[in-house]
Amino acid sequence: RPALVWFRSDLRLADNPALIAAAREGRQIGALFVWDEDSPGIRPLGGAARWWLAHSLRALAADLGRFDIPLILRRGPAAKIVTEVAEETGSDLVAFNARSGAAEAEVDRTVASALEQAGCTARRFNGALLHAPGTVHTAAGGLPRTFSAFRRAAQKLEPPRQPKPIPAGLLGIDTPPKGDLLETWGLEPVAPDWASGIRAAWQCGEAAAQARLAAFLDDGLNGYAEGRDSPAAARVSRLSPHLRWGEISPHQVLASARHAAQTGSVSHADADKFEAELYWREFAHHVLAAEPDLAQRNLQTAFDAFPWRECIGELKVWRAGRTGYPLVDAGMRELWQTGWMHNRVRMVVGSFLAKHLLIPWQEGESWFWDTLVDADPASNPCSWQWVAGTGVDAAPYFRIFNPVLQGEKFDPDGTYVRAFVPELAKLPAPFIHRPWTADAATLARAGVRLGITYPKPIIAHDAARDRALRAFAHIKSGA
Ligand code: FAD
Repeated sequence: RPALVWFRSDLRLADNPALIAAAREGRQIGALFVWDEDSPGIRPLGGAARWWLAHSLRALAADLGRFDIPLILRRGPAAKIVTEVAEETGSDLVAFNARSGAAEAEVDRTVASALEQAGCTARRFNGALLHAPGTVHTAAGGLPRTFSAFRRAAQKLEPPRQPKPIPAGLLGIDTPPKGDLLETWGLEPVAPDWASGIRAAWQCGEAAAQARLAAFLDDGLNGYAEGRDSPAAARVSRLSPHLRWGEISPHQVLASARHAAQTGSVSHADADKFEAELYWREFAHHVLAAEPDLAQRNLQTAFDAFPWRECIGELKVWRAGRTGYPLVDAGMRELWQTGWMHNRVRMVVGSFLAKHLLIPWQEGESWFWDTLVDADPASNPCSWQWVAGTGVDAAPYFRIFNPVLQGEKFDPDGTYVRAFVPELAKLPAPFIHRPWTADAATLARAGVRLGITYPKPIIAHDAARDRALRAFAHIKSGA
């Protein structure tokens, strides 16, 4: 009898454990994607992620089409839909890859029991992580609460498996049931078309993910350890949305990076640093599995008493990239225009929101959730809690990034700022990260009128820093 592969955040054919299991014994295969916003606790996707999903599904459908396997699209609560399609296809096996969230795990349990009642077997695999949640633990059996302890514990385990190719002899079912037309789901914007910058910046799908990895291995990984902090340099992989949607597996990425180091095409230092970043992704997913409400509550509960400020006006200014701090503004505009932001700048804008403005990190997390193409249910809240100082192994709250010094260190000639804040493009480098210190003649020559063409700083750094430290002292003293 046929087997049904239920695709979720694993939109690829190679190294896909669920697909490999379904294709075993030459079974015919049905392929299903369910757009589920109805099951309890499932977080609706943000706008940029919906855009990515639409394009990724198109690519997956085309890839499956090469094997005469149509991708069946259905919308609704997964337990109902998966059981229906299993029946319609006559499948006695439904295979799928796990996701890390608690609501998603609950959906899987509901689906499995609905399938069981219908006489069908459900099998769940780990396709998204190098190590399944729960397998990396302390001697006492719990989740290591610091990244370095997590990494050490992971290194003691069996090394991650080698990636596997597309299973041979993939075969579709004879009369597949009909699904929805993707266009009817409204995943992409119509008017206004806010996605033009995202479209220009990205190619979605498995082939594009492989091409991105190849390009990075060719020219990117070499020098990564040094160059990864520079937002203007093309030294990071930009694989995050591909990993988020499972267009490529972490096993494929890790094996390629290790191979590059072994064959001497990149240094071990570069490959190790890159590998560490892949392990930050792992860590975030393991934290989410252990802390299901990671996106909602401070993991360090002392911060529940922190005097956060509700200030919608300042939040809007931050979102729009109009804070008057060029690095912060460039980052927020890169995010809006391209659906992505460089990691160093994510840390700076996050710190700015939570520390300079004292706005709850959840506000930033939800803006990123809506605007990032790589918006990830684990890495996004975990990183926000890290930046805000409220999470596991977090940057200490009192370490407050100075957006001017960060800019001068990591974007010394202002290339990044000039790209995303064009109204400052003509400012000489010494002023590009601190336009308010330029004299009137310099500003005039650069066509900058502070407060008119570009805002003055929303708050002075020193005052913001003092205020944040006072707020932190408030919870430290338990006042
Ligand atoms: P590379 O430097 O090439 O790293 C390779 C891969 O490692 C990335 O693709 C990513 O999967 C993983 N990775 C790298 N850094 C981290 C990290 N700090 N935490 C977890 N995984 C990491 N990453 C997301 O994938 N989705 C998010 O929603 C997300 N939100 C973030 C929010 C904030 C406030 C911050 C500070 C970071 C966030 N990150 C998130 C982590 C990181 O910024 C991105 O993964 C990285 O910038 C993606 O670019 P890249 O693929 O070129 O990374």
